[in-house]
Amino acid sequence: MTTINYERLQGKLNILADAAKYDVSCSSSGSTRKNQGGALGHGEKSGICHSYTEDGRCVSLLKILLTNHCIYDCAYCTSRKSNDTPRAAFSVEEVVELTMQFYRRNYIEGLFLSSGIFKNGDYTMERLVEVAKILRTRERFNGYIHLKTIPGASKELLIEAGLYADRLSANIEIPTKSGLALLAPEKSHEQLKMPMQTVSEQIITFRDSQKTHKKAPKFTPAGQTSQMIVGASNETDLQVIQLSSHFYKEYALKRVYYSGYVPMLSDSRLPAIGTPVPMVRENRLYQADWLMRFYGFDANEIVEPESPFLDLDCDPKLAWAIRHREHFPVNIQTAPYAMIVRIPGIGTKTAKKMIKARKFHNLTLEHLKKMGAAVNRAKYFMAMTGKNEHLAHLTRDNFRQYVLAQTQTKFKDQRDGQLALF
Ligand code: SF4
Repeated sequence: MTTINYERLQGKLNILADAAKYDVSCSSSGSTRKNQGGALGHGEKSGICHSYTEDGRCVSLLKILLTNHCIYDCAYCTSRKSNDTPRAAFSVEEVVELTMQFYRRNYIEGLFLSSGIFKNGDYTMERLVEVAKILRTRERFNGYIHLKTIPGASKELLIEAGLYADRLSANIEIPTKSGLALLAPEKSHEQLKMPMQTVSEQIITFRDSQKTHKKAPKFTPAGQTSQMIVGASNETDLQVIQLSSHFYKEYALKRVYYSGYVPMLSDSRLPAIGTPVPMVRENRLYQADWLMRFYGFDANEIVEPESPFLDLDCDPKLAWAIRHREHFPVNIQTAPYAMIVRIPGIGTKTAKKMIKARKFHNLTLEHLKKMGAAVNRAKYFMAMTGKNEHLAHLTRDNFRQYVLAQTQTKFKDQRDGQLALF
């Protein structure tokens, strides 16, 4: 039995929890792992928590690195080998012990474990997998586990990881190939996408085998996610959301997370220290992502090549509607669902209620308010018996100014994209 020195462990925890805080891809949503009789924890209930601290940490999970030693030297990363920073490494048993202790005390719902790269990808990934394996098999831990996949890890280790973890994630880090080549020349998009490809193939394989063998094991039941750092290189928003769209289509990712770069390291390749990416840019990207996943928008509709950045003054759905007045006003008594959800101020739930309700009566603004629509925005885009005719002659810019002046809502700092925007 390994003896744990708790004083040393506390010191490591301070360093390795701090080093992990820049990774925002640890939302625990989507797990369906239930408690099995006599086991400890419940990934479905207690692991599901979306609370984030101001600097992006997900506080419901024990969120740590196995180590911040790293053989790589990515310019944007505080763990890079050339950075003069205190270093530490947990042993596998120490992470197991911490997770169990914290879980028993009800401090956490689960574990998010990432790592710098010791020696090579396989050596590091093996240890992450070992933590998850011991938690599941020896400790009978049934709470939520999210493991980061390590670039360069073998397919066999990725498959083993998916058998113990609820979720796996592979960070693409910098959205463009040229940006990555500049800031992390030891890496490439191809290398970083390899784990995504393997995990998505295995999800399909295991799902298929469950159709014929009910007792076939589950493979990463909460799916896989990725994260991009925004603003460390000079990528456009169009490039960012085109890449996310590619991930959703090709690898069936559950989520892509966007992390605005916080310049803390002095490096001529990076933005100057003290010039963080505005929170509103990160927020607009989450909103655009939401439009792609739930509203049927294509990346190239949300941001157009002539103007490849999101409008920071208004949400991307309102911005699209203002640019495309040819599609409006929409007749809400007859328009298809796909067009109703494109009306600013109308979300997917409201659109479904409208489709049902209009079978029985004509919809009015009062009805829409009761169904949850933001009518102060929606009214400029619906055919309301001539009410908006006085706006028809306005140029696009004047119409934009008029609508923004009438509908301006305060920007809220929510990471999830579910702002009061639709
Ligand atoms: S490989 Fe990961 S931990 Fe290592 S320097 Fe690059 S981003 Fe940081």
